[in-house]
Amino acid sequence: MPPRQPWAFELLAHHDGSYMLGDATFKPPPPLTDWRFGSPGHPHPATCATCGAKVDKTFVAAHFRVNKRRRDITATYDGYTLVSARLRDTLLRHGATPEDFRALPADPAYWWLSPQQVLDFSAAKRNNPCRACGEYFDEVVPEPRFLERLAGPLSMGVYRSSLEFGSVPLKGTALVIGVDTAQALRDASLTGLILDPLRCP
Ligand SMILES: [Zn+2]
Repeated sequence: MPPRQPWAFELLAHHDGSYMLGDATFKPPPPLTDWRFGSPGHPHPATCATCGAKVDKTFVAAHFRVNKRRRDITATYDGYTLVSARLRDTLLRHGATPEDFRALPADPAYWWLSPQQVLDFSAAKRNNPCRACGEYFDEVVPEPRFLERLAGPLSMGVYRSSLEFGSVPLKGTALVIGVDTAQALRDASLTGLILDPLRCP
């Protein structure tokens, strides 16, 4: 049997080689073996002081600028996907709203793509919930549960997963777009664009 038609696409990007939360990091005292944003005694203000997870979900750094500036889409190691004006305009014509993009104070050529609409995901593996903030330290193997409830291809627009995936402090949401939105991006010949088809199980 030929593979089923995709009903949605995950929108992915190559790493930008940068961190929205900055380059200052530290190791908490043993027996902990992870690393965190901030400096000893001064965890980054957007993170949980107990586990280091990002808890301020709207944080944008005042001085952040995109590294890979020839790209239309690029992603920080800590879960931010940044898009060019061309990519943003294409999304706005195909289902996105202005509220799906946050301006970068120091970089007017790019926007943080942070969709308002949420799709139901689960994680096949989640370990070590934090007693202070409730975030799971590891939350991996995304399962796009919303596909089971769709009657047809996902509508135009941009969406984010209900969970953040990865391991603290580098977790981030998955980004999903509708089939027609994905076609519009493909037609726009954008640099750095990666589309991963999602098919109904
Ligand atoms: Zn925590």
